Amino acid sequence: MHRITVIPGDGIGKEVMDATMIVLEKLNLPFEYIWMEAGDEALKKYGKALPDETLEECLKSDAVLFGAAGETAADVIVKLRFELKTFANIRPAKSYKGVKSLYENVDIVIVRENTECLYKGLEFEVSEGVTESIRVITRKGCERIVKYAFELAKNEGRRKVTALHKANVMKKTCGLFRDVFREIAKNYPEIESNDYYIDAACMYLVMDPQRFDVIVTTNMFGDIVSDLAAGLVGGLGLAPSANIGEKYAIFEPVHGSAPDIAGKGIANPSAMILTACMMLKHFGYLDEARKVESALEEVISEGKTTPDLGGSLKTMEMAKEIAKRI
Ligand code: ATP
Repeated sequence: MHRITVIPGDGIGKEVMDATMIVLEKLNLPFEYIWMEAGDEALKKYGKALPDETLEECLKSDAVLFGAAGETAADVIVKLRFELKTFANIRPAKSYKGVKSLYENVDIVIVRENTECLYKGLEFEVSEGVTESIRVITRKGCERIVKYAFELAKNEGRRKVTALHKANVMKKTCGLFRDVFREIAKNYPEIESNDYYIDAACMYLVMDPQRFDVIVTTNMFGDIVSDLAAGLVGGLGLAPSANIGEKYAIFEPVHGSAPDIAGKGIANPSAMILTACMMLKHFGYLDEARKVESALEEVISEGKTTPDLGGSLKTMEMAKEIAKRI
């Protein structure tokens, strides 16, 4: 039995989590779901966005399935990633038939470092009107994430790993990341490797995304390019992610609580469902994950989608269409 902490959180997090459960329940897997609270509503109710009981439950679980947190995201999901030491954030961006997007045949996996960089939150007000932020990049952190990216490429039969940095300006922090990348790449001669400056890479991503396969980068750059990559293939409604550490794993869609559409029942459940597929693969249920993915692809290609993908179905209706095909 795998013990899964389920945290729907705020806004559309709750809607897409309920929809995903309809699909997961169809698979009859040995999962025990423990539902816990966190986010803006938890803050109002308990005075803490990430209540102690929720964190304790996460630490006892084999995986956390997370929906979305609103204003309190930094105190909830960013904190959870740090507490559970999930150093690798995996964000695939893949094009689907039937989804209107800029390009076809995009299949990129972004491997984002998840515990260092500017998101450590070391920010200070030095004096009136003067603020500073500390960017922490360590050799150990770089080695761990770069190795993870090459191992992922090897295991998934991918051809190339590209590092993104800005080592010409941030000579120490990005310089260390680039140097470690180049050292580790030598251990994987069968996998092509190269590195780009982050700004140039953004242009290449928009003009020629097929030149990318696996991307590895530091925390903040990874956050930004993964939204960019999601935009290339049909938006946040289709973007899943996994946070992986040595002991723990957190699975969450890239999108947030989407207050603009929350409560309307029109959020696309695909990102959350694909996120659940990443969890299935993590536990070795590869066939089940593939079944769900192909059911989802079928539903999308038939145009049975939520409005963000041009359809007219509600969140639950789309999930039921997917579940029906499993
Ligand atoms: P938060 O502060 O919680 O991150 P946000 O609005 O800043 O919220 P997102 O929640 O990621 O950021 O939403 C960005 C945009 O993408 C919004 O217009 C939202 O409606 C849209 N969006 C995000 N997720 C989905 C989804 N699952 N289905 C449809 N549209 C979505």
